[in-house]
Amino acid sequence: VMASMAHLQEEKLRLQEEVLGLQEKLTARENDELSHSLQLQGQVETLKEKLLEQAQEIGRLRSELGCTDAEKHRDLLVAENEQLRQEMKACEGELRELRRQQQAPCQDCAHLQENTELQERLSQLQWEAEETRAKLAELDLEVQQKTNRLAEVELRLKDSLAERAEEEERLSRRLRDSQETIASLKSQPQQIKYIIKTVEVESAKAKQALCESQSRNQYLQEQVAMQRQVLKEMEQQLQSSQKTVAQLRAQIVMYEAELERAHGQMLEEMQAMEEEKNRAIEEAFSRAQVEMKAVHENLAGVRTNLLTLQPALRTLTHDYNSLKRQVRDFPLLLQETLQSARAEIGQAIEEVHNTNRELLRKYRRELQLRKKCHNELVRLKGNIRVFGRVRPIMKEDGEGLEAAEVVTFDAEDDAVLHLLHKGKQVSFELDKVFPPQASQEEVFQEVQALVTSCIDGYNVCIFAYGQTGAGKTYTMEGTAANPGINQRALQLLFSEVRGKAADWEYAISVSAAEIYNEALRDLLGKEPQEKLEIKLCPDGSGQLYVPGLTEFSVQSVEDINKVFEFGHVNRATECTNLNEHSSRSHALLIVTVRGLDRSTGLRTTGKLNLVDLAGSERVGRSGAEGSRLREAQHINKSLSALGDVIYALRSRQGHVPFRNSKLTYLLQDSLSGDSKTLMMVQVSPAKKNTSETLCSLKFAERVRSVELGPVSRKAELASWPSQEQLEVTKGPPGDSPGTRAPPGRGHMSPSAGQLSSRAASIRRKLQASG
Ligand code: ADP
Ligand code: MG
Repeated sequence: VMASMAHLQEEKLRLQEEVLGLQEKLTARENDELSHSLQLQGQVETLKEKLLEQAQEIGRLRSELGCTDAEKHRDLLVAENEQLRQEMKACEGELRELRRQQQAPCQDCAHLQENTELQERLSQLQWEAEETRAKLAELDLEVQQKTNRLAEVELRLKDSLAERAEEEERLSRRLRDSQETIASLKSQPQQIKYIIKTVEVESAKAKQALCESQSRNQYLQEQVAMQRQVLKEMEQQLQSSQKTVAQLRAQIVMYEAELERAHGQMLEEMQAMEEEKNRAIEEAFSRAQVEMKAVHENLAGVRTNLLTLQPALRTLTHDYNSLKRQVRDFPLLLQETLQSARAEIGQAIEEVHNTNRELLRKYRRELQLRKKCHNELVRLKGNIRVFGRVRPIMKEDGEGLEAAEVVTFDAEDDAVLHLLHKGKQVSFELDKVFPPQASQEEVFQEVQALVTSCIDGYNVCIFAYGQTGAGKTYTMEGTAANPGINQRALQLLFSEVRGKAADWEYAISVSAAEIYNEALRDLLGKEPQEKLEIKLCPDGSGQLYVPGLTEFSVQSVEDINKVFEFGHVNRATECTNLNEHSSRSHALLIVTVRGLDRSTGLRTTGKLNLVDLAGSERVGRSGAEGSRLREAQHINKSLSALGDVIYALRSRQGHVPFRNSKLTYLLQDSLSGDSKTLMMVQVSPAKKNTSETLCSLKFAERVRSVELGPVSRKAELASWPSQEQLEVTKGPPGDSPGTRAPPGRGHMSPSAGQLSSRAASIRRKLQASG
C-alpha cells in the first residue's frame, strides 16, 4: 500500500506538471489568439480608415456626380460597417474579460481543489470556446453578407459602366452624326459655315465634358479595383484566422480528452486505494477482535486456575511444613527403622536359608527317587529292547516272483509280523514292528525317550542290525530330505539342553569311528588309517577310553552336519567302494552329553552310541576266500559277540564277554550297568531275501526272548547261538522253536541243559560279588 501510495504521489506530481504545462500552452495560445485578434483589430482599423476614405471619396464624387444607386448602396455598406465595428468592440470587451479571468491567480494548491478549479476552468473555457465559435460563425455570416453585398456593388458598378459605355456610344454616334451633318453642311458653304462654327463651338464643349467624365470614370474604376483587392486580402486573412481557430479547437478537444483520461485514471486509482485501505482496516479489526477474544478467554482460564490453585497452595504449604518437621525427625526414625529392618532381614535370610536347605534335601531325595523309579520302569520294560523295521519293496528288488512281498503284519498287534517261508507263515513277536510305510518321524518317536535319558546321565546304545540293503543306513543316517535317528537325536538333544539351560550347563561332543576287520579307526581324525587302541582309564575308575579318538564339541545342527560330512569324506577316501566297504564295517557315532547342575554342582555324563552294523548276511560258506573270507569271519565274530554280550546282560550273568570283539569292548560302558540298548532289526520284504530275513528275525526274537527270570531258566538259556548256529537253526519252520512262541518259551537250544552247570557257577560268582 505504501509503495502504491508513493507511486500515486509521483503520478500526481507528474500530472500536476502536465497540467501546468497545459496551462502554459493555453495561455500561450490565448496570447496568440490575442495577438491575432489585435492584428485583426489593426486590419479592421485600417479597413475602417480605408472605408472612411472611400466614403469621403464617394461623398466627393457624389457631390460631383450627384447621388446614384451605387452611392446609396455604399451608404448602406458604411452603416453595416459601423454595426460590425460595434460588434467588434463587444468582442474585444469579451476578450478582455477573458484575459482578466485567465489572469485571476490560482490560490489554492491542494490537488483536489486544483482539480476542481481546473475542471471549472475547463468548462468555462469550453463554454467560452463555444461562444467564440458562435461569434466566429456570426462573423463568417457577416463576411458572407459583405461579400454578397460587394458582389452586388460590383454588379451595379458594371451596370453603371455599361450605361456609361452606352452613353459614350450614343455620344460618339451623335459625334459621327454631327460630323456627317458638318460634312453635308460644308457643301452648303455659308450656312454651313455658320452651322459649322456653332457646331464646332458646341462639339468642343461636349468634347471637354466627355474627356472629363471619361477621366473620372477611369478613376472610379481604379478605386473599385483597389476596393476589390482590399476585400480579397481581408477574405484571405479571415480564412487563415478561421483555420487557426479550427486548429486551436482541435487541440482544445485533444487536451480535454487527455485531461479527462488522466482525471479518470486518478479517480480509479484513488478508488482502488480507498478500497484497499478499507479492506486492510477491516481485516486488522477482525484479527484484533479474535485475538482479543482469545486473550479474554485466557484471562478467564488463568483466573479460574488461580482460584483453584489457592487452596492447593494452602495444602502444599501445610504439607511442606509437616514434611519439614518429618525431615527434622527423619535421621532418628531412619536409625530405628534400619535397626529393625536389619534384624528382620537377618531373620528372613535365616528362614530362607533353612527353607532352601530343606528344599535341596527334598530335591535330592526326589531326584534319587525319580532315578530309582525310572530304572525300575526300565527294568520292568527291559533295558534291552528289540524293534523290527521292514523296508518297502524297491526297484532294486526286481520284478515278478522274486520281488513278491513275503512279510505281512498283524492289524491288531503292532509287535507281530508274519513271514511266508516255503509256503508257511512263520510269526515273530518283537517289542515293536515298523511296517514299510512307517516314516522316519514315527520311528524316532519310539526312540526319543532313550535319547533324552542320555541327558540324565544314562548311557544308551542303538544298533541297526540286518542284511545289506535292508535299510540300516537309512534308519540311522537317512537322507538329506528325510534324516534318520542320528540327526534327529542330536537335534532333540540340542532342544532339550536349551530347555534346561536355566538350571543346567551342558556340553555336547561327538566322535565318529569305524570297526573294520576288528580294527578301530577314527573317522574324524587327521590320520583315519591309524588303528586305535581301547584302554583303561588310568584314574582307576575302571572306565575305558580310546586315546587319540577325536572329539568335536558341537553347538548346533549345522555343526553336526559338518561333522557328518567330514566323517563321510574320510570314510570314502579310505576305500575304493564305499557301499561295499560300509556293509563290511561297523560305523559308530558317539555322542557325549556332559551336564552341570548350577544349583547343586551335580555333574552328569551320558553317552549315546549310534551304531550302523555291518551286513549280517552270510557269505557262502564254501565260496569265500582270502580277504572276503577274513571279512566275513570278522563280521560273524563281532555280531556273535554282540549277541553274546546282550544275552549275558539280559540274563544278568556275572561274566559278560565284552572283550570278545572290539565293538563290545568299546561299548562296554554303554552296555553294562543301568545302560539302555535298542536293537533295530532291519529286514527286506522281498521273496528273494526270505532266508536272510528269517535269520535276522530269529536273531531279533532270540535277543528279545532272553529275559530275567528264575536261575533255572537263565541256565536253560545260558547259551547264545553264534552266527553259525543261527544258520544251522535256519531251515524249515518245523525245525525252528515253534512259530510265534511266547517270550521265554520254546526257544531252548538243544545244548541248553549241558550248560546249566556253567550258568550256576556264574550265578554263584555273582552272589559272591554281592
Ligand atoms: P543297508 O544300510 O542296510 O545296507 P540302506 O539303508 O542302504 O541299507 O537301504 C538300501 C536302500 O533302500 C536305500 O536306497 C534306502 O534308501 C532304501 N530304503 C531302506 N529303507 C527304506 C525305507 N524305510 N523307506 C524308503 N527307502 C528305504
Ligand atoms: Mg548301510
